[in-house]
Amino acid sequence: MSTTIFPVSYKGDFINGKFVPVTKGDGDFKDISPADLNDLVMTVPFKHDHIDEAVSAAKKAYPAWAQLTVDERKSYLMRLKEMYDSHVDQMAQLICRDTGKPLWDGMSEAKALGNKIDITLNYSLKLVAEERISNALPSVDGVIRHRSRGVMAVVGPFNFPAHLPNGHIVPALISGNTIVFKPSEQTPAVGQFMAELFEKAKFPPGVFNLVQGDGAAGGRLVAHELVDGILFTGSYEVGLKIKQETLTHYWKILALEMGGKNATIVWDDADMDKAIYESLVGAYMTSGQRCSGTSRIIVHPKVADEFTERFYQAAKKLSIGHWSENPFMGTLINEAAVEKYVRFQEIANRENCESLMRGKSLDLKHKGYYVTPSIHLVKKFDPNSVYQKSEIFGPNVAIYQNDNFDEVMNIVNSTGYGLAMALFSKNKDLYEQAQFKARVGILNWNRTTNGASSRLPFGGMGKSGNDRPSAHFAIQYCTVPVASLEDPTPFDATKALPGMNLEMK
Ligand code: NAD
Repeated sequence: MSTTIFPVSYKGDFINGKFVPVTKGDGDFKDISPADLNDLVMTVPFKHDHIDEAVSAAKKAYPAWAQLTVDERKSYLMRLKEMYDSHVDQMAQLICRDTGKPLWDGMSEAKALGNKIDITLNYSLKLVAEERISNALPSVDGVIRHRSRGVMAVVGPFNFPAHLPNGHIVPALISGNTIVFKPSEQTPAVGQFMAELFEKAKFPPGVFNLVQGDGAAGGRLVAHELVDGILFTGSYEVGLKIKQETLTHYWKILALEMGGKNATIVWDDADMDKAIYESLVGAYMTSGQRCSGTSRIIVHPKVADEFTERFYQAAKKLSIGHWSENPFMGTLINEAAVEKYVRFQEIANRENCESLMRGKSLDLKHKGYYVTPSIHLVKKFDPNSVYQKSEIFGPNVAIYQNDNFDEVMNIVNSTGYGLAMALFSKNKDLYEQAQFKARVGILNWNRTTNGASSRLPFGGMGKSGNDRPSAHFAIQYCTVPVASLEDPTPFDATKALPGMNLEMK
């Protein structure tokens, strides 16, 4: 794996098919790598007026793009796939520099971009294929078609700065929508590089637009009256704000992919090696900054000592370092995330949890936002505990003990979030009980909570989402099902309703 640094230079927002640098902007922000505070990736000026220009460009481009055939739109997406696939190294490196995640993690994200196009074209498109229904009414055929919606605003998170926006953008484009994408202000270089690849793939001007900016820019974008849909991935707090701010925008579809406080259950018959490995991956991969990460583990008391001791010994040995050294764990995203992580260590202690492994910030050769993983033992389940119900978005895990499956399910469902749950047990009956009782959108059996498949839906209940699952199902909220009754037969007066007294020729 090469660690030669690819050069990056600020190009501007991507509007109507070209990069438009911001001059006389409303402000700027510095894109500094969390893995090395001396690594200034670029400085990004932003301008709120660019949002209006990008939305107008997307609106203007929409009718022609929507009227292309699916095969015509496919050919653009196949060119984009070629661009994604031939720039995997560069994309992975930018992901790592912007987020601090290790190279293997960045590589798997970069490789997912082209795969998403394959999966959308080969599988997800079928979900919105035209369907003819014979005799939808007596002697009249029906057709279900899926039409596009218009301009989709895609607002991205920092933790998967390319894969998750791409998961909205690809299905939206193939089904005939145009895009204005605002990447996270933590990861502007990844956003800009995506726009460069769209430029190389030669999409018609205005079909894909990118505007850089912070939360205020995101607010302005989602509230824009020419926007027809908002495809958001981020925190519950911001998702709720968007919902509130667009409450009267009746014409907009709103897909909210939000946070999680995911639980894993390790039962007394679990394959212990597997449960430990998968739980480590769930809790600490990407430094715990995954919406589907494992933040709570509920262990059957019969195996709790063994599980906890072995989990702790393995967690202690996880390597932490600069992305280029390919450690298991990289950094948190910024100083505020480190402060929050450290603060939650205190909160857990204050709320009577025992600190088995304390998380703290770590000084390494490269100065950055490195922290150590942590484990807290929960002595008493408390649904009102701030520690037990908050998404920390860092490498912390709470371990509970309980042997009553109904109580365990109650713990699983207690946080308000409802994204993912994993069960480690050979007992299929428990898995079937969980299918009924767990309020989650992702329920895994003998497999960790994170690392989802694009062939399946991805979304959550409660504070995790608004029942518009993404991944395989994203294409459904990018389209409107249109019903048509099609009747080619001539008028038949014998079928007229009573009392109409028609005089037909
Ligand atoms: P965030 O909510 O802080 O920011 C997400 C995006 O929203 C950013 O682009 C930000 O600029 C923008 N934004 C901020 N305020 C806004 C406003 N008022 N209006 C419109 N846009 C606004 O999230 P983050 O810190 O980037 O990402 C981490 C969060 O995302 C975690 O909660 C994580 O669980 C969640 N997440 C969810 C999924 C999922 O698929 N369910 C996937 C990844 C991350």
